Amino acid sequence: MDALPWWTDKNHRFATEVEEFVDNELRPLGDKMDHNEAMKVQWNISKFVVDKGFHPLAVLVEEEYGGREEGFTGYTILNEEFGRCFLNINPLLTTVFGGGPVHLFGSPEQKENFLEPMVKGEKWTAICVTEPDVGNDAANIQLAAERQGDQYVLNGWKRYITLGAKADYLMVYALTDSSEEAKNTHTHLTSFIIPRETEGITIEKINELTGDVEMFNSVIRFQDVSVPEENMILFEGDGWTVMTSGLNIERLGIAATVGQARMLIETARAYGRRRVQFDAPISRYQTVQLRMADMAMRLKLARTYLYALAMELDSGAADMFQFGVDAAICKVFSTEALIEIAEDALTILSGDGYTSEYLAASILKNALLTRVTGGGNDILRLFIGRQEFKKKPNPSLLPRVLRGVEKKELE
Ligand SMILES: Cc1cc2nc3c(=O)[nH]c(=O)nc-3n(C[C@H](O)[C@H](O)[C@H](O)COP(=O)(O)OP(=O)(O)OC[C@H]3O[C@@H](n4cnc5c(N)ncnc54)[C@H](O)[C@@H]3O)c2cc1C
Repeated sequence: MDALPWWTDKNHRFATEVEEFVDNELRPLGDKMDHNEAMKVQWNISKFVVDKGFHPLAVLVEEEYGGREEGFTGYTILNEEFGRCFLNINPLLTTVFGGGPVHLFGSPEQKENFLEPMVKGEKWTAICVTEPDVGNDAANIQLAAERQGDQYVLNGWKRYITLGAKADYLMVYALTDSSEEAKNTHTHLTSFIIPRETEGITIEKINELTGDVEMFNSVIRFQDVSVPEENMILFEGDGWTVMTSGLNIERLGIAATVGQARMLIETARAYGRRRVQFDAPISRYQTVQLRMADMAMRLKLARTYLYALAMELDSGAADMFQFGVDAAICKVFSTEALIEIAEDALTILSGDGYTSEYLAASILKNALLTRVTGGGNDILRLFIGRQEFKKKPNPSLLPRVLRGVEKKELE
């Protein structure tokens, strides 16, 4: 893979290691399967990836909990490389998104009890935010957790939970204080890590999805589910902080699906040089070259920004709690880039692009999901736009006419 100029020796070593693993072990497994088979959840292969030391959660986690401490650059390298394996290793991704908050905020006991089994690939974790009446408006969670002694009793619903029917643990966000004051200060939610087999948790439905990837995407009912307070992450009222930090990790992970774009560009390059129409390879035609230029520019920009953010996190220049706007920009830009690159690749491949062998149509179909999950792109754009308008304009960048207005109105 192409290295970024600021990568450390450790990053280079890890990238080489991941690349060799993907080339020599992971892709050959995918090559042996037909398309439909590869898109079923590959539990054994996911476990094999973990045993080889490439669980994305392990890459982030400290050595004392069985991790490798390769930082967010390592996490991004791994996720990008997974993008060129056409294999459904969803358990690894849902577990790093769902289990990430235990890594960030868990007590030593919670890390021992919950994080370590996840890092070893013994347990998989799903993330439970969405509800029947709660989509992008995640602050409006209705599933209620009521304190009764040293237990919390949970009642309500979650829906669209990826691997919900199969995960061992559920990272659940619940309402613990419905007062206006708590809502206004974002102290109304609390997060819990809960074994899925707990009494009162039932899987009510597994959704039929349009994409090719099997997900066991579930509607889950919670009826008088007793959860000990030891399973609460941080304190009562900290759920919003936990959720938004977890979502930032998820957004960087989703952004790294831009790794699939490399596969699409190589496919379009090979195809464009080989396919002859009107007595010349189609790569000689400007319409095809313009599409290739757009694909290459989008990939380069998305990838560079993604690794710059990973580097900021690794160097301590940014932290996960103050990272909302950057993570949102990265997620929106990368996912839109992937969708557009998939469309261009499909168009260059034309009829062949619509067949399953060339994967472009399948990647496009699955990429459309990245636009709506982990925070819908339209909503994230609104968030980015609002934050931009909150900043005071910088007079040194304003034309004279507006500097005057600034003086009169703002000073
Ligand atoms: C395959 C799949 C897997 C998923 N996995 C998980 C999971 O593991 N865990 C989990 O918790 N959730 C999961 N989700 C849920 C996903 O995150 C939500 O679908 C997403 O948050 C959007 O919510 P919604 O579908 O209810 O859309 P809504 O929030 O109802 O939005 C509908 C439309 O209205 C627009 N809109 C809404 N509010 C505004 C506003 N204020 N201003 C302007 N426009 C607005 C949106 O942009 C969108 O276009 C999954 C969903 C799918 C399809």
